[in-house]
Amino acid sequence: MKLPFAESYKTKMVETIHRSSRAEREQWIKEAKYNLFNLRSEQVFIDLLTDSGTGAMSDKQWSEMMLGDESYAGASSYYKLKDAIKDITGFEYFLPTHQGRAAENVLFSTLIKAGDVVPGNSHFDTTKGHIEFRHAHAVDCTIDEAFHTELDYPFKGNVDLNKLETVLKQYPKEQIPLIIVTITNNTSGGQPVSMKNMREVHAMAAKYGIPVYFDSARFAENAYFIKIREEGYADKSIREIVKEMFSYADGMTMSSKKDAIVNMGGFIGFNNKEVYDKATMYNILFEGFINYGGMSGRDMNALAQGLYDGTEFNYLETRIKQVAYLGQQLRDYGIPTQYPFGGHAIFIDAKKFLHNVPKEEYIAQTLGVELYIEGGVRGVEIGTILADRDPDTGKNRYPDLELLRLAIPRRVYSNNHMDYIAASLINVFDRRNEIKRGFKILKEAPILRHFTVELEKL
Ligand SMILES: *Cc1c(COP(=O)(O)O)cnc(C)c1O
Repeated sequence: MKLPFAESYKTKMVETIHRSSRAEREQWIKEAKYNLFNLRSEQVFIDLLTDSGTGAMSDKQWSEMMLGDESYAGASSYYKLKDAIKDITGFEYFLPTHQGRAAENVLFSTLIKAGDVVPGNSHFDTTKGHIEFRHAHAVDCTIDEAFHTELDYPFKGNVDLNKLETVLKQYPKEQIPLIIVTITNNTSGGQPVSMKNMREVHAMAAKYGIPVYFDSARFAENAYFIKIREEGYADKSIREIVKEMFSYADGMTMSSKKDAIVNMGGFIGFNNKEVYDKATMYNILFEGFINYGGMSGRDMNALAQGLYDGTEFNYLETRIKQVAYLGQQLRDYGIPTQYPFGGHAIFIDAKKFLHNVPKEEYIAQTLGVELYIEGGVRGVEIGTILADRDPDTGKNRYPDLELLRLAIPRRVYSNNHMDYIAASLINVFDRRNEIKRGFKILKEAPILRHFTVELEKL
C-alpha cells in the first residue's frame, strides 16, 4: 500500500474551541451588525478570518522566547534577528517594526509624497491605504489571468510587464518612488509570482531607474510554488530560491505574522544605506528605537527562529497541501473557487456562487455571513466593502472579483476541521438559489472601512 501524506509535526499543546447553535449564531451576527470582525472569538468555531498572527509557534520558537534579551539598546535578540534576516533574505540593513503596515508606514514616509504613482500587483489593502493616505495612487498591473478564477495558470500573481511599462512611460521617474511586488499576491487569491517575472520586473525597473520593493508577507509560500511549478527549480532548496527571489529587490517590507509564524512582528529590509538611514528617523518616531522597533526582545527571538521554521520544505508542504485538501473538496462539489489554489487560503468566487444577490448589496459579505450562520466558520470578504470608495469620486469601487477568503492559520487546524468547513459551505451551496438579498451600509469609516463597517440586512 502506498503510504499516504501526513503532517510533518505533532501537537504539544491544545486550545479548546466552542461549538454553538444556529439560533445563537443568528443572534450574535445580528448584534455584530453583520460585520464578522465584530464577533467575539468564542462565538466562532473555526476561525478563518486571517492567517495573520494566528499560527502556532513551534517548540523551538517558544524556547527562543525564554532567551529574549529585553535591553533597550544593543540587545542580543536584535542581532539574532539581524543575522537571520541577512541569512534568509540577503538584505544588509533592516529595521524592526511591530507589524507589516508599520513597515509600510515607515518606508512610505521615507519614499512617497503627494501626487506620486506606485505601480504593483494588486496592492494589499493596508499598502493601498498607506499610499492613498499620502494622496498618492496605487496602479494595479496584475496580469489579466488573475481575474479569471477558473483558469488554470501557475503564476497568477505575476506583474503584467506591458501594463507596468505603460505606467513607467506615462509618468516621470520623480513621480514613481517605487514599484511594489507582493509575494504571494494576497488580493488576487494568494497566487504566486514566478522567478522569471521577478527577474523581468527588476530588469525593467532598473532600466527606468526605479527601485523595487517586495511586500513579502508570504515569501516562503511563494518559494514553495516556484520549486513545485517553475522549470529549473525542482532541485533547489526553499532557502536557495528565497535568496534568488530577494536578489531581484532593492528592499522588502514584511508582516512576520504570516510566513515567519509569529503572533506579532514585522520588519523592513534594505540594500540601500541611504534609504535605510532616512527611514531610521521615522522608525524611531513611529515604532521605537531601531534595536527593537515595537517588538520585545523575546518577540524578535521567536521571529528569527520563525524565519527558519517557515522556510523548511516539509512544513511548507504540509501547509500548502492542507489548503489544497480543503479546496479540492469544494471544487469536487462544483463550488467556484480561485484555481489553482493559493498558498494560504481558499478563495470562493462569490459572484458565481450567489448569482441572485446584486453587487450593490455586497455579494461576498453576504456569503461570509451565510457561512458563519451555517457552521460557525468565519471567513472574510475580499470584495466591494474591502475595496473602499474611490477617493476622488466617493463612489463604491466594484472590483472584478467578489471573493470570500477562507484563510488557514499555520499549524493550527486538522484535516477534520477542513472536512467540517467543506460541509458547512456545501450546505450553503445547496440552498444558494434561495439567497436573494444582501446588505446595506449603515455606518463606515473613510478608509479601511471593512474593519468597522455596520450593516443592515435587506
Ligand atoms: C498582512 C499583510 C500586510 C500588512 O501586515 P500587518 O502585519 O497585518 O500589518 C501587508 N501586505 C500583505 C501582502 C499582507 O498579507
